[in-house]
Amino acid sequence: MTSRETNSPSPLRRGACLRWLLALVLSLGLTSTVRNLLAREQPPKPFEFSLTRMGTFFRITLYAANQTEASKPAMAAFERVEQLEDLLSAHRQDSEVVRLSRAAVLVPRPVSQDLFYVLDKSLQISRLSGGAFDVTIGPLVDLWREARRTKRLPRTTEIAKAKAAVDYRNIELDSQGRTVLLRRKDMKLDLGAIAKGYAADQALDLLKSCGIQSALIDAGGDITLGAAPPGKAGWKIAIDDPSPQGKEAPCTLVLHDVAIATSGDARQAVEVNGLRYSHIIDPANGMGLQDSGSATVIAPDGITADALATALSVLPVPEGLRLVESIEGAAAYIVRRTGGEWRHFSSRRFPQECNDIRKRGN
Ligand code: AMP
Ligand code: MG
Repeated sequence: MTSRETNSPSPLRRGACLRWLLALVLSLGLTSTVRNLLAREQPPKPFEFSLTRMGTFFRITLYAANQTEASKPAMAAFERVEQLEDLLSAHRQDSEVVRLSRAAVLVPRPVSQDLFYVLDKSLQISRLSGGAFDVTIGPLVDLWREARRTKRLPRTTEIAKAKAAVDYRNIELDSQGRTVLLRRKDMKLDLGAIAKGYAADQALDLLKSCGIQSALIDAGGDITLGAAPPGKAGWKIAIDDPSPQGKEAPCTLVLHDVAIATSGDARQAVEVNGLRYSHIIDPANGMGLQDSGSATVIAPDGITADALATALSVLPVPEGLRLVESIEGAAAYIVRRTGGEWRHFSSRRFPQECNDIRKRGN
């Protein structure tokens, strides 16, 4: 798996930071800029910013010398996320991905570097997960969103029709011309399982290009981490664990320079006739997942962690663990409830702390 340092595009990144520096000089004048430079001698302090972006609570925590040096890069990072939302959101009718789903049937369409990168990564994870992760899931997502609204299950015929349009092998990417072709008219792309992780990566890259090294980006549970806070071993991250043991004795890890993402049905699910169906869908049968639980993945970058966390929610546990073991720098912690019993699993590279807590608490 390639890391974002080598492969991920960074359009506008340097430009955005240069704009920020220029705005800083112009808006504050030279004297206060000199004052700011002197302030850099002071130890950096934590600053937190949050906004609703990509349909979730997006939080940036960073270390900087003062409020100005913290807020300008943070705003530039939010601007970058906003730009990505315009490209990747399935909820914006004029987003690039929505227009692509309408236009790219049997004709190769040129797309932005960002969209191409996310689709390329999506196809890699689809292949590795044998289709458990599939961004052509859109028609099924629409059905299950309607089910959550009406509290009624989709009809079998509706599921069969939508499922027929879901298959990542019907996406053709051409890296030479940076084009995308969709093989079926009824296909609909949905990047909900991967776009937030990518946005978190890009926000962190932008902060780094502005000279901010210690930062945490939390895109609603998809977390990307920069260097550790000054003088600390890392960022304290509490692992989402919906089991009773997880609530009683939560496991906390100290991490830096990695990404960590959790997928699960804790918040978005529909209950019909006593059965709970998740917003995460198994492309193999078109059904919302019924085994409740969560999958947490640590990976070198957010795009990988986000996509893998969704894939591992769908896959049977042994297959999911095999998949993360095969990816360099990836590790997973899976919580599942099957037949009323909660169980915890972790891959070899996952930090031992969580297992130790479960051994003591279970
Ligand atoms: P996440 O919270 O990252 O696991 O993403 C869940 C979202 O991804 C859902 O709300 C859908 O938009 C989409 N999705 C659901 N099932 C799948 C799947 N099997 N593969 C890819 N995307 C999915
Ligand atoms: Mg995901």
